[in-house]
Amino acid sequence: MSGCGNRERWVNGMQDTYYTSPNMVVLLGTALLIGSLYPVCRLVVELPAGEVRRQWRLLGAMIVCVIGGYITYAIGGAETNVILKGLLVPLVLFLGGCFVLAVAMMSLRTAHDVRRMSVLERETVTDPLTGLYNRRYLDNRIKEEVARAQRHVIPLSLLLIDIDHFKQVNDQWGHPVGDDALAALGRLLSGAVRTEDVVARYGGEEIAIIALNSAAPVAAVLAERLCRTVEHTVLVSGAGTSERAEVRLTISVGVATLQGQADDAKRLTCRADAALYEAKSEGRNRVAVSRAQENSR
Ligand code: GH3
Ligand code: MG
Ligand code: MG
Repeated sequence: MSGCGNRERWVNGMQDTYYTSPNMVVLLGTALLIGSLYPVCRLVVELPAGEVRRQWRLLGAMIVCVIGGYITYAIGGAETNVILKGLLVPLVLFLGGCFVLAVAMMSLRTAHDVRRMSVLERETVTDPLTGLYNRRYLDNRIKEEVARAQRHVIPLSLLLIDIDHFKQVNDQWGHPVGDDALAALGRLLSGAVRTEDVVARYGGEEIAIIALNSAAPVAAVLAERLCRTVEHTVLVSGAGTSERAEVRLTISVGVATLQGQADDAKRLTCRADAALYEAKSEGRNRVAVSRAQENSR
């Protein structure tokens, strides 16, 4: 008997809790939904006009409807109105399903947009023929790296590379083979430097390398190694109509190193260019280090 009494008290207690706590939970849910309106409104304001913005606006309206349903339920509207009681809970649950579906669809679309944007971003900094960074990227990056090297007082060198007698390659094998050789050279150089070094197409058949954290002697050794690697590599085999034809190239390299706080990217590039000119006039297939470097050593 006493056991049954306990059970009754327990059931009544559960009923009391049942009737008071759901309202608190629903009110909490309402607060969360109201909070979610803020990022949705920000998205609607920040997104450019178009389909995605229209969808987010629709989602905002859906959230407002769900909030209305929650509030009506929490203040007991459904208890006093039989029609509401039968409709409200299923309606709110249905809207919840629509809401989740809409968020999932829009997340998918956002993921596609992000992927497309990262491809576009990559394309704006890449040279299409060689796959190296392009001149625009190089110009910005070199300024950044010069500023960083000066701020942290670390060495920085620039290598300017020009293919020797490249016109002859085009004349002998045709431009498509010249293109293949240029692309192969880009891959070869990229694979021969450290991953943090920046390899970019500077001009037609000229390539620049920003050798990070490299003083003049280190950069000169790197340049010499690149010269020898290119010299001993077949860049294109089976060129033209001949199966056995091989395209080999040599390169000339000008090296310049950042000279303290007063230096800048433009002067560094001019010195590397002057050194490259020197390497060409001294016979090609060689490295020349900027004279400013030699004076400062
Ligand atoms: P050197 O530098 O040793 O003085 O001789 P070079 O023949 O390489 O010099 P020059 O600068 O006079 O000629 C560069 C040639 O590079 C001319 C141009 O047709 C070729 N070139 C530049 N860009 C490309 C390209 O994207 N594809 C091909 N196939 N050729 C290119
Ligand atoms: Mg050239
Ligand atoms: Mg050349």
